[in-house]
Amino acid sequence: MDDRLRQDLSNWLEFYRELGIEEFYRRNPDTLVNASPIPPPAAPLAATRSDATAETRSGAPILRTATHLAAPEPTPLAPASPPPRVEVPATVPAAAAIRPPVASFSLFETPAPKPTGPETLEQIRADLGDCQRCKLAGGRKTIVFGEGNPHAELVFVGEGPGADEDEQGLPFAGRAGQLLNRMIQAISMKREEVYICNIVKCRPPGNRTPEKDEIETCSPFLFRQLESIKPRLICCLGAPAVKTVLGIKEGITKIHGQFYDFANSKARATVHPAYVLRNPREEKILREDFEKIREFLKGK
Ligand code: URA
Repeated sequence: MDDRLRQDLSNWLEFYRELGIEEFYRRNPDTLVNASPIPPPAAPLAATRSDATAETRSGAPILRTATHLAAPEPTPLAPASPPPRVEVPATVPAAAAIRPPVASFSLFETPAPKPTGPETLEQIRADLGDCQRCKLAGGRKTIVFGEGNPHAELVFVGEGPGADEDEQGLPFAGRAGQLLNRMIQAISMKREEVYICNIVKCRPPGNRTPEKDEIETCSPFLFRQLESIKPRLICCLGAPAVKTVLGIKEGITKIHGQFYDFANSKARATVHPAYVLRNPREEKILREDFEKIREFLKGK
């Protein structure tokens, strides 16, 4: 064997070794004739082949049968000339560096089920989308989904966005919101620590009270938000929130001192900050109720 041929062969062997093919053996050329254990193609081979092509195009895995194997397309085993040498870093064993990773799943394994758990607020917001489910959609500028800590211990539920909220897309962004912020600070908390939302996400025209059909359409999103956040305490601000969350029709001044159960959370009610702005003498109720909230959250 001349030196050039020897070098070429040596390059080839090295190339296959780097591919992870270590062993070579020769077969007697005479035994290669009719040596295949697979019978010649059966009659519907053309159909079988086009099926196989379709499967491949659709990306579905192909479980080949003997008929498929009977007439494989000739696959060139190697390029016509020895490949260029691939340099791999000295610290990585060459063969391991280019060997394909072992597949981590098999065709016969069922994929692991998707983890199921409470929805995230992002998922709920995505589901709400550009909501057109009720007649409030026509008059709104912005959907006011809610704002705050997705793991808040305390959630405030108001009635619905007003003009400022509709403009900014944030709940309690106007004067009532400023009063709410002061109350939150008065119990040594920050607005970012709590979560604030409403029973309807779109501004009712002229700031009227949301109607029954609007509340029925929108409140499932509120309940999903509460289910996602799982707060320790829900504070309903004003009668419509109390009626929606707790199903209680009695006046706030009658029930505001009490705790109620809502799923695994506690709930209570207080007067709406907008009501206090119109009736400043009632701020006392708001302060007292916030003190109770502070005490409840302190008692872990
Ligand atoms: N009043 C509410 O009930 N909700 C708001 O977001 C603002 C004012």
